[in-house]
Amino acid sequence: MAVTINDFNVKEKMQWCPGCGNFGLMGALKGALADLEKNLHEVVIVSGIGCSGKAPHYVNTYGFEGLHGRPVPVASGIKMANPRLTVIAEGGDGDGYQEGVQHFIHVMRRNHDITYIVHNNQIYGLTTGQASPTTLMGAKTKTTPFGNIEVPFNPILSAIDGGATYVARGFAGDAEHLKELIKGAVQHKGFSLVDIFQPCVTFNKLNTYEWFRERVYKMEEANHNASDKKAAREKAEEDMASDYNMVPIGLFYKEDRSTYEGQLPQVKDKPLVDKDMDVVLTKAYEEFM
Ligand code: SF4
Ligand code: MG
Repeated sequence: MAVTINDFNVKEKMQWCPGCGNFGLMGALKGALADLEKNLHEVVIVSGIGCSGKAPHYVNTYGFEGLHGRPVPVASGIKMANPRLTVIAEGGDGDGYQEGVQHFIHVMRRNHDITYIVHNNQIYGLTTGQASPTTLMGAKTKTTPFGNIEVPFNPILSAIDGGATYVARGFAGDAEHLKELIKGAVQHKGFSLVDIFQPCVTFNKLNTYEWFRERVYKMEEANHNASDKKAAREKAEEDMASDYNMVPIGLFYKEDRSTYEGQLPQVKDKPLVDKDMDVVLTKAYEEFM
């Protein structure tokens, strides 16, 4: 029997603040998995720490909540061990673009076949409102009481230049559009980034639902060519270049390239999960005894 979106729900009550963008985001993710007819046991969701870190607890699939900023290396390892699984890493802008930014950079050039969903609320939410790498200049937060003086990190531009092969940005306030972006990411064979504007209604009073609704537009309605890297870079810089009057969402860039686990000699023909572990360990013991 085909799975439905309700099959991905759990009994546990989601403990996010009322109105948080994480609700729309999570609905889009579950809808995408249901539309793709994924069975519950075929999906693994891995998170780091932060409000986004609760994600694996709220989806009825396999899950793992790891260290701060480290969902991506865990997800990569899972995919190498068992490529039959659909592996989704989830983190926040602080978790992934600050604590774990080194993993973000290196996973992209390797092109592991995983989907990385970033709950980008432009603030540290769980720790109650400090500036994050994507906080806009001038924004007043607990750590920037006179206004943020740092240029925000641009995850989209970094992903396009870093070797990611599917680069998209969605808005939690448009769950239907976001669902389609996540479906595309899961179906894509290679590293997919879906950076998601996820309003933090409690601690980010600047980037609200209204703020985004006045500014975002869909690139697919503006004839953007996602196979054109130069055009993708221009779109990635459009928000800041337009002083945030034009904020594109949708698919920025997509290309086909061999995956890491598809080339790694030790696993490309037979994944770890299908190997006789006794034989592998015996050889290792002999070598290092
Ligand atoms: Fe959502 Fe912000 Fe509350 Fe975290 S602190 S649950 S991001 S509204
Ligand atoms: Mg955050």
